[in-house]
Amino acid sequence: MKLYFAAGAKQVCVNHIDVPLLEDERQVHRIDRLRIEPNCMALFAPHQMSSCRMGFDPHISVTDAYGKIHGMENLYIADASLFPTSLGSNPQLTIMALATRNAEFLLSNN
Ligand SMILES: Cc1cc2nc3c(=O)[nH]c(=O)nc-3n(C[C@H](O)[C@H](O)[C@H](O)COP(=O)(O)OP(=O)(O)OC[C@H]3O[C@@H](n4cnc5c(N)ncnc54)[C@H](O)[C@@H]3O)c2cc1C
Repeated sequence: MKLYFAAGAKQVCVNHIDVPLLEDERQVHRIDRLRIEPNCMALFAPHQMSSCRMGFDPHISVTDAYGKIHGMENLYIADASLFPTSLGSNPQLTIMALATRNAEFLLSNN
């Protein structure tokens, strides 16, 4: 928790029913006294994506539609970061399909 605040976080989500959110590093001590019982925590796995969006316009995207970095030769991305936005659902099959498509394009054009 301290690391998040040291890195500049304005809030840290604890997801415990007694302390859902920390607003300040001085509140971190509150997690030491939390109950550890069934149904106290909301657990989930975040799916990070869209940090190097593909697109046609270099001003609002990092790569072209096949993962090639705008303005660079021989540098490609083939992972979840290519999505133009978050899918809002489990992304793994789409990532595999996208990576396969881009790899096939790369092989057939080099
Ligand atoms: C707990 C959990 C459960 C999930 N469950 C599902 C699910 O049920 N269904 C679903 O669709 N998705 C699920 N996901 C999401 C899915 O696993 C990811 O979205 C997907 O694997 C991301 O693919 P990626 O290729 O972008 O990244 P990753 O799969 O993270 O691949 C990145 C690769 O790069 C390597 N790497 C990192 N740094 C370097 C470096 N410097 N040099 C060389 N290699 C490096 C890593 O070792 C890794 O192999 C889950 C994720 C988590 C964490």
